[in-house]
Amino acid sequence: MAQRVYNFAAGPAAMPVKVLEQIQRDMLALPGVGASVMEISHRSGAFTAIIEGAIKNIRELLSIGDDYEVLFLQGGSRLQFSMIPMNLLGSGQVADYIVTGSWGKYALDEAKKAGETNVAWDGKETNYDRLPATADLRLQPQAAYVHYTSNETIQGVQFATEPSVGDVPLVCDASSDFLSRPLNIRKYGLLYACAQKNAGPAGVTVVVIRKNLLKLSDPNLPGYLNYDTHAQANSLWNTPPTFAIYVLQLITQWLLEDCGGLPGIEVANRQKAALLYDVLDASPEFYQGHAVPEVRSQMNVTFRLPSDELTAQFVGEAKEQGLTDLKGHRSVGGIRASIYNAMPVAGVEKLRDFMVKFRDTHQGAK
Ligand SMILES: *Cc1c(COP(=O)(O)O)cnc(C)c1O
Repeated sequence: MAQRVYNFAAGPAAMPVKVLEQIQRDMLALPGVGASVMEISHRSGAFTAIIEGAIKNIRELLSIGDDYEVLFLQGGSRLQFSMIPMNLLGSGQVADYIVTGSWGKYALDEAKKAGETNVAWDGKETNYDRLPATADLRLQPQAAYVHYTSNETIQGVQFATEPSVGDVPLVCDASSDFLSRPLNIRKYGLLYACAQKNAGPAGVTVVVIRKNLLKLSDPNLPGYLNYDTHAQANSLWNTPPTFAIYVLQLITQWLLEDCGGLPGIEVANRQKAALLYDVLDASPEFYQGHAVPEVRSQMNVTFRLPSDELTAQFVGEAKEQGLTDLKGHRSVGGIRASIYNAMPVAGVEKLRDFMVKFRDTHQGAK
């Protein structure tokens, strides 16, 4: 297949064509280096410029001040589920978890192995289709931190703003909405995201951590699992995933130069999501959204059709038209369209047109 499809995969997900072309152009020889980025030392001048460029871009996009460290780690967001309690949850302390979907539950399950946790809210009763109001949260005033998931990738529910947690450090799994909209980093103690949804290829995970939290880590932790190790070594304690960091640098550059930064990409992301939600709202008897409308995600649009047969037919016919990876996660069923930063408006418009036509053909034929 030589033609590119519109790929609605939840992750690893579509990347900007401009960035793929830059990678292709410089694959055999980075300008001024004469070798590919995969063949040079992570301590070379050329790679130092790349990793420092990536950090500078992230700092600029999110207005991150000197009181925070930006780290590039491996092990995905899953390793963060363990590293967070290992570093921040002391013995005799408790950590609060707000569970709004599958990923929040996975984070909680790992934290339980490392220390004491409190479930401040859990939406499983309604299969994670809604979010808590502040009054619903049963927070512990002395908690070591409060963990939440800004966007639940599987269920398609997204916080519009951070939950209020007072002075307790807020810890956020932003894996599937990182760099998709502006946020106020000062509200966070720690924010983390694997790159492969919105920010690059698999292999690198970004951790933004307030510097005063680095002092909490037990020095007897294994070196790799200690945030302070990576902060002291500028994310070069061991050999980092150089290729993934290189692509992250290109994507953050694309966000700054081609997308109008995070305010610009947020406008585009809202427009894309509205195209699909308008179809759901216009056809509630055919397309049934999973999330309640107030909290539905700008990144992962989840909905069901009247029957499993129609769902399978939808996925198959869409694929024939170059609209791929639309099958929903098995825990929710139906369809999931992931429309991260790199999904062009044209791709979402094509899906919207397909949805309208499919509905008009099959409505009433349940
Ligand atoms: C994808 C995802 C993860 C898991 O990331 P890995 O890199 O596979 O560990 C965790 N949390 C959320 C919200 C995700 O979307």
